[in-house]
Amino acid sequence: MDRLALATDLPDALTVLDRHTSIGADIAHVTAGIILHIPHASTKIPANEATKLTISGEALAQELLRMTDRYADELFDLGEQAARLVFPLSRLVVDPERFADDTNEPMAAEGMGAVYTRTSDGRPLRSSLDTEERQRLLERYYVPHHERLEQLVREALQTSGYCLIIDGHSFPSSPLPCDLDQAPLRPDVCIGTDPFHTPEWLQRTSVAAFSDPGWRVELNRPYAGSMVPSSFYRKDARVYSIMVEVNRSLYMNEQTAERLAGSGEVCRRIQSVLAAIVAAAC
Ligand SMILES: [Zn+2]
Repeated sequence: MDRLALATDLPDALTVLDRHTSIGADIAHVTAGIILHIPHASTKIPANEATKLTISGEALAQELLRMTDRYADELFDLGEQAARLVFPLSRLVVDPERFADDTNEPMAAEGMGAVYTRTSDGRPLRSSLDTEERQRLLERYYVPHHERLEQLVREALQTSGYCLIIDGHSFPSSPLPCDLDQAPLRPDVCIGTDPFHTPEWLQRTSVAAFSDPGWRVELNRPYAGSMVPSSFYRKDARVYSIMVEVNRSLYMNEQTAERLAGSGEVCRRIQSVLAAIVAAAC
C-alpha cells in the first residue's frame, strides 16, 4: 500500500504536470488536432487539502484505490502524436470531469459533483463545505485545468481545423455503491459518446478498434458521455470527443493496485487501438 501514500511536496501542484503538459509543448503537439485528457489517474492530495477530509490513513487509501483510474496515464499515451493533459491531483480534491454547476451535474445528488462531499460508499468525505470553500477549491484547481484544456482545443482548431478529445479512464470490474449502473456484469471497454460531439464514424471506428483484440465493448455502459470544455459544448461540431473506459481487471490487481503480469501487453494494445482511431480522424 505504500504507493497510495499522499503527496506532501506539492508547492504548486498545477505546475507539476508531465512532459506533455507544459503549455509550450502542448501547443507544439496539438498540430495533429488530437488531445488525450486524463482526469482521474493521480492519487496526489496536497497536505493542506488532506487535512480538510474526514477520512485518513487506511480508509483514505481504500477510497483512493476505488476511485483512482490508476495507470490511465500509462495506458493513454501516444507520444508525439497527441497533446496530453493529465490532471495532476486526485479527484478527491476536485473532479475536473464533473460540471462545475451542481444543477447540471447528475452525480451531485450522490455528493459527488465537482467537489465531493461523500465517499464512493456514501460516507462523509468533508466535515463541511460552505460556498466559499467550494469556490476556493474550484478556482485553485478546477478552473486552471479547464482553461488549459480550452486553450488546447482552441489551438487544435486553429492549426488543424478540428479537434479530437480522447477522454481516458479506467473503471472497477464491480460496481461501486455510488455508480448509477449497478449491473454486475461489466464490459472490458466502455466507449462513452455525446450525441453532438461524437460523429457516427468516430463511434463506429472506436467500437471496431477496441473489439479487434477480442475485448467486449459496450457503448455508454456502465458510464456515459465524454468530456468537452464548456465554451465548445454543444456549440462547435468541429470538436469531436469520445470517452474510453478500460476495465481495471484487464491490467491491475484491484485489491492491491499492483500491475498484472500482462499489463504491458494490454498497454501496448490500447496504444495501438488509439493510434488506429487517430489515423481515422486525421
Ligand atoms: Zn475516470
